[in-house]
Amino acid sequence: MVPKETKATLDKLVALCKRKGFIFPSAEIYGGVNGIYDTGPLGVLLKRNIKTFWLNSLKNKLGKVVEIDGALIGPRAMWEASGHIENFHDPMIDCLNCKKRFRVDDDNIDINKPCPSCGKKEWTEIRQFNMMFKTNLGATADQATEAYLRPETAQAVFVNFKNVMSTSRVKIPFGIAQIGKSFRNEITPKQFLFRMREFEQMELEWFCKEEDARNHFDCWINKRMDFYKSLGLDQSRMRLRPHEANELAHYSTICTDVEYHFPFGWKELEGIAHRGCFDLSQHMKYSKKDLSVYDEETKESFIPNVVESSVGVDRLFLTILFDSYDEDEADGEIRTVLRFNPKIAPIKAAVLPLSKKLSPQAEKLFEAIEQAGIETDFDESGSIGKRYRRQDEIGTPFCITYDFESDQDNSVTIRDRDSMKQERISIDKVIPYLQNILK
Ligand code: ATP
Repeated sequence: MVPKETKATLDKLVALCKRKGFIFPSAEIYGGVNGIYDTGPLGVLLKRNIKTFWLNSLKNKLGKVVEIDGALIGPRAMWEASGHIENFHDPMIDCLNCKKRFRVDDDNIDINKPCPSCGKKEWTEIRQFNMMFKTNLGATADQATEAYLRPETAQAVFVNFKNVMSTSRVKIPFGIAQIGKSFRNEITPKQFLFRMREFEQMELEWFCKEEDARNHFDCWINKRMDFYKSLGLDQSRMRLRPHEANELAHYSTICTDVEYHFPFGWKELEGIAHRGCFDLSQHMKYSKKDLSVYDEETKESFIPNVVESSVGVDRLFLTILFDSYDEDEADGEIRTVLRFNPKIAPIKAAVLPLSKKLSPQAEKLFEAIEQAGIETDFDESGSIGKRYRRQDEIGTPFCITYDFESDQDNSVTIRDRDSMKQERISIDKVIPYLQNILK
């Protein structure tokens, strides 16, 4: 399928995110930090909705999914067992002339050609760079106190596998989900939220028997694609890309990426991997603790296989922004609109009194909608057209106008963000109307 044209560019999104309070460069008043961002009020709401949508999508017919929240810092021994100390490297190269550093596998780098930054061809040797952030716990700095900020959330799941099994009354197959921060000292963070040094991941580790693993891997691929469909992402911009044998990570047997067509090309949005029994076996070997499961039917113990689905909250956030960004014409002007799925829109509705004189009555309606648990805005300043534009730009699906007739007919006008059509409905139907769309 040929991806549809988009009016979104990275520059437009970066500017919109800052202008509207979705994302700010971190520590900006000190010049910012490359690859690190802070989330503003609207960004927090959007992220929360994305996470809820993801969690809800994990319900499935194969088995139960429980959630944990593991620590961000892990001891050296854990990262040795997981293979991260040995393998979590990216190949890097430096330009001796301008001192810029690059990832060798970066699409824009060809080491047979001159440096894209200064035009000279004076490369260093290729070296391996471990992307984990290292620290020491307490005042002594030796290998025993060495610890690392996690580069993925998954290991917290594996080391807690037995704790969860013995406390949650779950049976194989079942899943452990986790949403949390991960840290990677990326050589060249870029493309805004696409490649960051501090980011959030949503990961599901699905534990099953070896003989079911391939089938469950395929089931999860389908389920994950259903998730993106129900989120409303343009399917012409999505594809699955199975990994070639030579690009598989150290832990995986088979892996398929969910890719999205960004303005900078087809890129990974999510990785789905059949990890075999690598993780639990490694932790058994290094910790010398038994992480096997007893099978009542066969009367034998086995080490479960794992199917993993891993997507970055921030990368999905950026994808949703690209996907929903649009420009069209309204009242003879170009309007910017974020066509978010209403379920994930940060603000669901805005109550707009046509005149400030109507504010007290309109505020009552606003409070009632908020009380119903629906994120709502109240805006009484500027022309009604300007107020519509403000809400379109942040993706609010519905604007509710309280006008001079509202007092008499007990009705308001609801305007749909996408079609810009307006509908008159009675005030007591507003909340059920919104609830019906958001359920
Ligand atoms: P890439 O090839 O893009 O570096 P990866 O294969 O290293 O990604 P995984 O380790 O599979 O990524 O991580 C799972 C998911 O976490 C990715 O699909 C992506 O959504 C997210 N992710 C990984 N690294 C970053 C990052 N530096 N910034 C933002 N999100 C990230």
